[in-house]
Amino acid sequence: MNRSSRFLPSVSFACALFLCGQSAAQAASQSPVNFRSDSTFFGNLPPLQFTLSSDTPLTVINTGTPDDEKNIRADVNAGAGSLMLSGDEWNLAQFHFHTPAEHLLNGQTMPMEMHLVFTDTAANLDNLLVVSRWIEQGTFKSALDPIFSHLPQQPDADALSVDHFNLNTLLPDNLQSFRYSGSLTTPPFSENVTWVDLAEPLALSAAQINAFTALFSDGNAREIQPLDGRIILTDVAGFVSAVPEPETYAMLLAGLGLIGFVARRRLTSPDFMGSAA
Ligand SMILES: [Zn+2]
Repeated sequence: MNRSSRFLPSVSFACALFLCGQSAAQAASQSPVNFRSDSTFFGNLPPLQFTLSSDTPLTVINTGTPDDEKNIRADVNAGAGSLMLSGDEWNLAQFHFHTPAEHLLNGQTMPMEMHLVFTDTAANLDNLLVVSRWIEQGTFKSALDPIFSHLPQQPDADALSVDHFNLNTLLPDNLQSFRYSGSLTTPPFSENVTWVDLAEPLALSAAQINAFTALFSDGNAREIQPLDGRIILTDVAGFVSAVPEPETYAMLLAGLGLIGFVARRRLTSPDFMGSAA
């Protein structure tokens, strides 16, 4: 018996609490979290359908460096970006950056993490979706240079205006992801945030990363928060080491309905767990 299969009873118990217990309802659902192979479940996830402008202006501001709860934020004009997910439309409001990365992958971190913040069509700030992407050190990213070569150095500095920006350059071709329900990672740490953490990192050059980290010498990332029985789903083949027992699987399906990640028609798909490694 390997480590992952020994873990299953506790996953099952946690799911039972999540579904049935008032104690689970009172548990915190905070972000960020650590995505672990032995507590993440594999499945076909509803597709992410982005519609992003390839030529839109940005307004980039420093919200308060070097405060660890502040960042560099690029505000996006209304209508410049949207995401359709499970029949719901989300509108891109802004994107910003953290150092080091906030979410971990089997305990491993990355130099930075980017968050694209979407609101629902009613712009209800109590109902947000964040698309997250790790940033690794690699080659120079020219598309992001208009931001990273002119990062506003002071919170009271004039905003940086970028006249022409292609939002599509922020996303990978491969949209495999981790998805869970969490919170904002900065005050007021509001919950009911749907997280979509793209698996494929974005590469920036060392100089580009250093330009950002120099502004946040103590970092601007929140510490990892407990899962408290929450379910993390992924469509990254080969990441998950656990194949659920039938009773756990049944509870997962019910849990998925609760958190709304998977359309009903997909729950009965015969290959839902079929590719679990
Ligand atoms: Zn963030």
